[in-house]
Amino acid sequence: MSTVTTAEPRSYEVRTYGCQMNVHDSERISGMLESAGYVRHVGDEPADIVVFNTCAVRENADNRLYGNLGHLRPVKQRHPGMQIAVGGCLAQKDRGEIVKRAPWVDVVFGTHNLGALPVLLERARHNQAAEVEILEALETFPSTLPTRRESTYAGWVSISVGCNNTCSFCIVPSLRGKERDRRPGEILAEVEALVAEGVLEVTLLGQNVNSYGVEFGDRLAFGKLLRACGGIDGLERVRFTSPHPKDFTDDVIAAMAETPNVCHQLHMPLQSGSDRVLKAMRRSYRSQRYLSILEKVRAAMPDAAITTDIIVGFPGETEEDFQATLDVVRESRFAGAFTFQYSKRPGTPAAELPDQLPKAVVQERYERLVALVEEITFADHQRQIGREVEVLVAVGEGRKDEATGRLSGRARDGRLVHFAADSDSDSGIRPGDVVYTTVTSAAPHYLIADAPVSAHRRTRAGDAYEAGHAPRTAGAPGVMLGMPRLASRS
Ligand code: SF4
Repeated sequence: MSTVTTAEPRSYEVRTYGCQMNVHDSERISGMLESAGYVRHVGDEPADIVVFNTCAVRENADNRLYGNLGHLRPVKQRHPGMQIAVGGCLAQKDRGEIVKRAPWVDVVFGTHNLGALPVLLERARHNQAAEVEILEALETFPSTLPTRRESTYAGWVSISVGCNNTCSFCIVPSLRGKERDRRPGEILAEVEALVAEGVLEVTLLGQNVNSYGVEFGDRLAFGKLLRACGGIDGLERVRFTSPHPKDFTDDVIAAMAETPNVCHQLHMPLQSGSDRVLKAMRRSYRSQRYLSILEKVRAAMPDAAITTDIIVGFPGETEEDFQATLDVVRESRFAGAFTFQYSKRPGTPAAELPDQLPKAVVQERYERLVALVEEITFADHQRQIGREVEVLVAVGEGRKDEATGRLSGRARDGRLVHFAADSDSDSGIRPGDVVYTTVTSAAPHYLIADAPVSAHRRTRAGDAYEAGHAPRTAGAPGVMLGMPRLASRS
């Protein structure tokens, strides 16, 4: 097969499921495809390449994937040359099974070889046969791949991939492998590159950011990294996710409190307030340790907004265990919580445990937990009324903005703020700009600021948004060598 480079470029679409890791991986998939000559799909006709970046954590993820692939089959039949690729955690788990169940899929790639996608697409086209390539270990650190960023004002930066823990409900360690840490110099270079493009906020990303450094033997590496981010001119906000109570150390609290651009926000997964359940989950901290970390964080940063993840109905959870979770929730005064009903994930140790709870019990406890969480977050948000907040204006955070005439964004502590911007002087506010306003009312999941905007700062991120310029970070030199530029219709 020959390649025609003068033809219209082939278009691509990436459909993303799951967590922030996947969202960021999809930015890399887009960046790589664009470096190989593909263009982002627009319009009503189907894209030439559809990539599914899948998640294996959610319930029924596989049914959903095969359902979506089934819908695409007739579309592909009507569009000769269209290609379908499946990557992410479910691809790493199901491997060749995917092309057995959906033989119209062209490429299956795993979590360790994102960078191979353009080559696999081309090979599948050339050989007219499906390509399945799954690696057991990371080939190159994914951040060395070119990345097309979705936001002009906020960027994800991976500090590590994989996880050395073995939480019994979690499929991540078997699909993403052992923790691999990126060197601080590389991380800081990527942050600086983003800031040079106008980005104001970065979120440092790892399955367990508190064990960062374990691979190169520096237990204090994460706190040092936060402090180093503090020295980057133009970087206004630093966030991170996810920390782990087992590895959370005091030096990180000090670094958060003493580094002005590190946001006073902590999303720390609790999962359960019962020590017995935590043990069964193989989470090696206990509720007292969790609470003592929150106490220290609040002593150092009284304005910190603390959020969490909680699983209800883990196998063997008794009413007493559940009450222990409610007790910790009450004591923790969370500003928000993601609550999940436990359900079996094939391939995880917890799926094999006896005493799986009936759905009705899990549902009933879940409803009680949600009611308590809402009561607590509402109370916490009401305490914000009257405060001045600095809001980084966002895209897509306010579904009702058009109807209410408000704009939306995040305060420094991560809280969602819908603010009034209806006067003439406010009309030039753009996503990526920063405004200052005062909170006038609250709801369990957001704050309202209907006071007049007291100040509006135009930023380079806002300019970039207005100009339609998406930040890109280039791949490491050499990474693209040998990668074909073959993305024209042939
Ligand atoms: S810390 Fe536990 S829940 Fe988080 S990724 Fe690792 S194994 Fe999964």
